Amino acid sequence: MPIYEFWCKVCDEVFERLVFQDGELIRCPNCKGSEIEKIISAPSIKINEDVASKRIRKRLNYYLKAGKLKDAKSFIEKASSYVKTDAVKRMADKVHSLSNRKGSVR
Ligand SMILES: [Zn+2]
Repeated sequence: MPIYEFWCKVCDEVFERLVFQDGELIRCPNCKGSEIEKIISAPSIKINEDVASKRIRKRLNYYLKAGKLKDAKSFIEKASSYVKTDAVKRMADKVHSLSNRKGSVR
């Protein structure tokens, strides 16, 4: 059974959940909201690289927006080993320059 990662649009919570069937109503464990978006985990990226790049960008933006630079960095490092597109490479460069600029962040 697949475990998916979800992002709550209401409170920005990211959580993992086992999904038993498609179309199952997922609620945020934090705010109980149902404005949930599925985000793809890096290891399961195998589809169309353009789609994958967009999803990576989306998730990366989530981390950056939340100020989770360390998470962003480990995510993009993992992602760039699975999806080798220029877009992903540029994102990785951006994250690295951000983390260099900020010095040691958590
Ligand atoms: Zn929520």
